[in-house]
Amino acid sequence: MSLRIGHGVDAHRLVEGRPLVLGGVHVPFDHGLMGHSDGDVAAHALTDAVLGAAGLGDMGRHFPSSDEQWRGADSLDLLRRAAAMARDAGLSVASAQVVVIATEPRLAPHVDTMAARLAAALGVEVDRIAVSASTTDGLGFAGRGDGIAASAVALLAPIS
Ligand code: MG
Repeated sequence: MSLRIGHGVDAHRLVEGRPLVLGGVHVPFDHGLMGHSDGDVAAHALTDAVLGAAGLGDMGRHFPSSDEQWRGADSLDLLRRAAAMARDAGLSVASAQVVVIATEPRLAPHVDTMAARLAAALGVEVDRIAVSASTTDGLGFAGRGDGIAASAVALLAPIS
């Protein structure tokens, strides 16, 4: 089996009264992401990238929001489960990158911790995971601060 690449994209609405969780990190902010789980768009995009690369579908298939089991779920746990499914299929994460798109808050101080948490959930060394933060120059929902988006790619390699 050869290398396999996957891509995931997610976005959630910012609302008052929720903690902001990104890449498994509680980021201090006066709004948080709405969602059936903790709303962690970075973890969700990466989970979809891993599942897609492994040919295992997507989060909606494995962790549907219609299932009460996943209400308030820790998204790092969902990522951990996706990595375990990929391993069961004979694949491990060779590298991955997540880009978080937000106007506020400033995420640069948190990206290294996010990478460490995501790597730990995937069961790989931290230097295999990159997290970066981007903005949209004020454009669209992310520019207005209505929500936060994330995009992720994951490269999976056969377990030797
Ligand atoms: Mg999501």
